[in-house]
Amino acid sequence: MTSRIPAALIASAAFSAVLVAQNTGQPDWKAVEEETMRHYQSLIRFDTTAKERPAAEYLKKVLDENGIPAQLLTLEPDRPNVLARLKGNGKKRPLLVLGHTDTVSVDAAKWKFPPFSATRDGGYVYGRGTIDDKDNATAALMTMLLLKRRAVPLDRDVIFLAESGEEGNSRVGIGYMVAQHFPEIDAEYCLAEGGSITRIGGEVKYARVQTLEKVPRGIELVSHGISGHGSIPLKSNAIVHLAGAVAKVGAWRPDIRLNETTGTYFRRLASVSPPDVAKYYRDVLSTDPKVRSAADDWLFENEPSHSSMLRTSVSPNIFQGGYRSNVIPSEAKATLDVRMLPDEDAAAFLEQVKRVVNDPAVEVRFASQEVRPSGTTARLDSEAYKTLETAITRVYNTITLPTMSTGATDMAQLRAKGVQCFGIGPAADMEDGPKGFGAHSDQERLLESELHRFVRLNWEVVTDLARAR
Ligand SMILES: [Zn+2]
Repeated sequence: MTSRIPAALIASAAFSAVLVAQNTGQPDWKAVEEETMRHYQSLIRFDTTAKERPAAEYLKKVLDENGIPAQLLTLEPDRPNVLARLKGNGKKRPLLVLGHTDTVSVDAAKWKFPPFSATRDGGYVYGRGTIDDKDNATAALMTMLLLKRRAVPLDRDVIFLAESGEEGNSRVGIGYMVAQHFPEIDAEYCLAEGGSITRIGGEVKYARVQTLEKVPRGIELVSHGISGHGSIPLKSNAIVHLAGAVAKVGAWRPDIRLNETTGTYFRRLASVSPPDVAKYYRDVLSTDPKVRSAADDWLFENEPSHSSMLRTSVSPNIFQGGYRSNVIPSEAKATLDVRMLPDEDAAAFLEQVKRVVNDPAVEVRFASQEVRPSGTTARLDSEAYKTLETAITRVYNTITLPTMSTGATDMAQLRAKGVQCFGIGPAADMEDGPKGFGAHSDQERLLESELHRFVRLNWEVVTDLARAR
């Protein structure tokens, strides 16, 4: 038997030697940008509003071709999740990097460029998913490819997950992964969507890293009365009682309660805001209830998302009752969208709602007994958070605000399993949202330059957290 080494092996050894030699410096960002744009546009061009398979297969192919074996894990045939892992030496627990492949639907008539064309125009890329969430999926993919090609030695495994169904059907995505494949995604930290870098007037003002989110818990108000002929008004009219209850709940703003994340958020936001607005951010932190509630009044009117961050929020969103104009119905029902602070005592909160309603004819109950378990708060003194802050300063030269989002994300399921999750995202102009280019808007777009800067951030954070020391 001759001991000739196959040519392919020599070639591949030489190839990796070149890559290892490059290892010490930064990646060739020019080349990375071309490749980033190619994958980003390819992902946007798949219409993944309810069928992620083509995008998932694309990701698997790219990972496989780059020597990172990827799996498709599937609850429903059209909706696979893509999972891949780079092995570390096991000194630290893994890091999971997420990006969801599905998007919300589109009304194509509202788009200047076709929503799945990924058209580049004036420095932007247009398309559904450009900022939710094919940006995160692309950045995570590029980081995996760079880690592999540069053969970066790792102290922890880096796990890539492109999940399906985030937009209202997490059963097929993160729900399925946590229920059926948790050991394969179990990690100390996770990075996902939910954060952002805010630019105002074209300048970066601050970064938001999501460390916490509110917990959705619907409450129903059901009024019971006597039915009868509409020509004879009754004191027990269920519609009237329900209307009174909804009006009381609508006017009520539950107590302000801050936590480590929101306290830090408002303090830091005040430090980078113009004085007239900064005053309100500082005032909500005041121990004087009068000062606090005056600031809250201003936020409720002018910045409702900030007002919601202060408390468990209640919004009456469905009102049902009656079926004929000449019949007094015996029952009417309203549904309240309640977003609880993560540490809210749900049962005690329900009692508070009962006291506010204060009407024995109106029953107050949870809409569903199915409760999303409250999760682990991502700690501000963790290695991951500190690494994020440092990397954000390096890449964006700006301050980081830890943020509690008022809505829920796929991180909820992971936090419930003890994974510390952080939401990040690329920079966008604050002026762009009101123009109708935000996530879930009639149109969606991202600045090309900010896509590339975000890939860099992702790379820096992941390598800093996972690289062997
Ligand atoms: Zn999303």
